[in-house]
Formats: sequence, C-alpha cells, structure tokens
Amino acid sequence: MKIVILDGYTLNPGDLTWEGLQKLGELTVYDRTPQDKILERIGDAEIVYTNKTPLTRETLEQASQLKWIGVLATGYNVVDVEAAKEQGIPVANIPTYGTTAVAQMTIALLLEMCHHVWAHHEEVKRGAWTNCPDFCFWNYPLIELAGKTMGIIGFGRIGQAVGKIAQAFGMNVLAYDEYQNKMLETDSIKYAALDELLTQSDVISLHCPLFESTKGIINKDTIAKMKDGVMLINTSRGPLIVEEELAEALNSGKVAGAAVDVVSTEPIKMENPLITAKNIIITPHIAWAPKEARERLMNIATDNLEQFLAGHPVNVVNQ
Ligand code: NAD
Repeated sequence: MKIVILDGYTLNPGDLTWEGLQKLGELTVYDRTPQDKILERIGDAEIVYTNKTPLTRETLEQASQLKWIGVLATGYNVVDVEAAKEQGIPVANIPTYGTTAVAQMTIALLLEMCHHVWAHHEEVKRGAWTNCPDFCFWNYPLIELAGKTMGIIGFGRIGQAVGKIAQAFGMNVLAYDEYQNKMLETDSIKYAALDELLTQSDVISLHCPLFESTKGIINKDTIAKMKDGVMLINTSRGPLIVEEELAEALNSGKVAGAAVDVVSTEPIKMENPLITAKNIIITPHIAWAPKEARERLMNIATDNLEQFLAGHPVNVVNQ
C-alpha cells in the first residue's frame, strides 16, 4: 500500500521520525508540493496526507484510487471534504494535540506585551543600561495583570486552558461562546455576552474557529466598543480580524498593543497593514509547533491510519 505525504516539512523538519507510518506501507514524504505537482505525486497511492496542500474536487476526481485522506492538522479546510465523501473517501483530522502549546504561546505573547522582555534585553546589549544614571530604566509601559480582565472569545479547549492561566495570574475572565457550559464558571471565570466582553476587557484573546459567523469578528465596530488601551491577542486564525481596521486602531492608540501568531494570508505579505502598525508583535504561526505538540500530532496521524486499516476509522470529519 502506497502512502504519500504531500507536505511533511513543517510537521517534521528532521527532529521527528516517520517510522510509525513507514511500518504501515510504502511511504513517500515530500517536504512541500507545488500546485502543478499534486496529482503526479499522489500517483497511484491509496493513502495521502496533507497539511496545507489543497485537495480540490478536481484533484480528488482524478485520483480515483485514493481510499483515505489524513490531514496533518486540526483545520481541514484545505480538503474538499464533500467531494471526498461523494467518492467514499474518509478524511481524518487531528482534533486535539496542541491545546497546551497554543495556550502557552498565547500567554507568552501577553507577557511580552506586558514587559517587552526582548526589547529591554536589546537595549541593555546596546549599552542603554550601562549609560543610565539610575539603577534601572524602562522604555515601555510595564503592565501588571492581577485584577485586570481577560476576555476570551471562543471558550473551547484552548480558550479554557488560557482562562485557567489567566485565573492563576489573578485576572478575571469573561468568556464568550456560542455554547455555554456553566460547570466551567468559577469565582473569576464567567460567561458574558460579546458586547459585555468587548466593553469590560483589558485584554482580549481570540480562540474561536474560523467560520462565516466569526470571520472579521474584530473590526472597526467591535474595536470601537473596546476599552481605550485594550490589548488584543490572536493565536486562532488570521481572518478573524479585519487587519486594516486593527492597524488603524493600533496607529491611533485605541488598541495599545496587539500580538498575532496568524494572519489573513500566510506566509504574511509585506503589504499586510499589520507589518507597519504600531505596537504589534507578529509571529509566524508557531503556536502549534513545539516538538512535544508535533510528536503528539505525529502519533495521532499514525493512529488515525492504523484505525482505518483495522476497519474502525476515527476522527473522520466527512462521515
Ligand atoms: P475548540 O473547538 O475546542 O473550541 C472552539 C470554541 O469556539 C468552541 O467552544 C465553540 O463553541 C466556540 N465557537 C464556535 N463558534 C463560535 C462563535 N461564532 N462565537 C463564539 N464562539 C464560537 O477548538 P480549540 O482546540 O480550542 O482551537 C481553537 C482554534 O485555535 C482552532 O479553531 C484553530 O483555528 C486555532 N489553532 C491555532 C493554532 C496555531 O498554531 N496558532 C493551533 C491549533 C489551533
């Protein structure tokens, strides 16, 4: 049985092993696959894995020997899952592997906005402390989080993990979600309507998926409702934010700082208005990528295929 991985590099740039999948069939791994090589590389394989390489209806119709598709990520929008279903091809994703890693990155971004650790370190290295008349200096506002309010939009696995850490910092948490589980409320974590969250929060963090209903949820109207000087974090999906409008709010100072790990088009285009906006931190979609999280992803990806071959498919998103 032939197994083809179309874009394995970001999952395994060399520090993990494909051994588990090698045991299941004749494995070919491509680091990345350009659009015009997708069909050729799938060839007569029965099993294909993709991370971000699109598998369109047209491609699937021509790859008629395909029996199963594995997505090496949680989000499976790169595969036309309906077309796959029509052809009887199950598509399996990795529903959860990165909760703790993404929550940790969210907090790393928050703490960076509060302390500007790297910028201060750079100042020290260029001699600013050595030449300082006082025993200390700071060039950016320093912010304590205890007693402040964090608004979490999308209170699922990652949102809840972020909420727990915020609670440990002594913050109050307002959570907005389409579905509410009142069991998750504590003295300092409460559900709120979106407007209440927007008006009350000192920090707002996005953890809802990208759906038509959440696309552009951060825009000039929702920003106008926020506190002056609010901080915004996005480790979920870029299109949740209307970037032009966030850039304007950063430049005017309405939003005091923003940190985003995801943007509307990835890799980011240098024309993206966030690149030149004031007080922004942009990281290249790395929240998911600590080795520990990628190891979990690799194990689940292997298990997904094993279970399919054993006759009881799991994590199928197009049943
Ligand atoms: P999850 O499904 O556990 O939680 C998502 C929550 O959002 C759910 O509680 C759901 O009810 C809620 N939601 C859905 N529609 C909503 C709406 N219209 N308004 C408010 N809430 C809504 O997912 P998760 O594991 O917590 O992941 C959240 C997101 O994080 C993913 O969708 C993905 O986009 C992103 N993510 C990013 C990275 C990264 O590397 N930056 C890695 C993994 C996941």
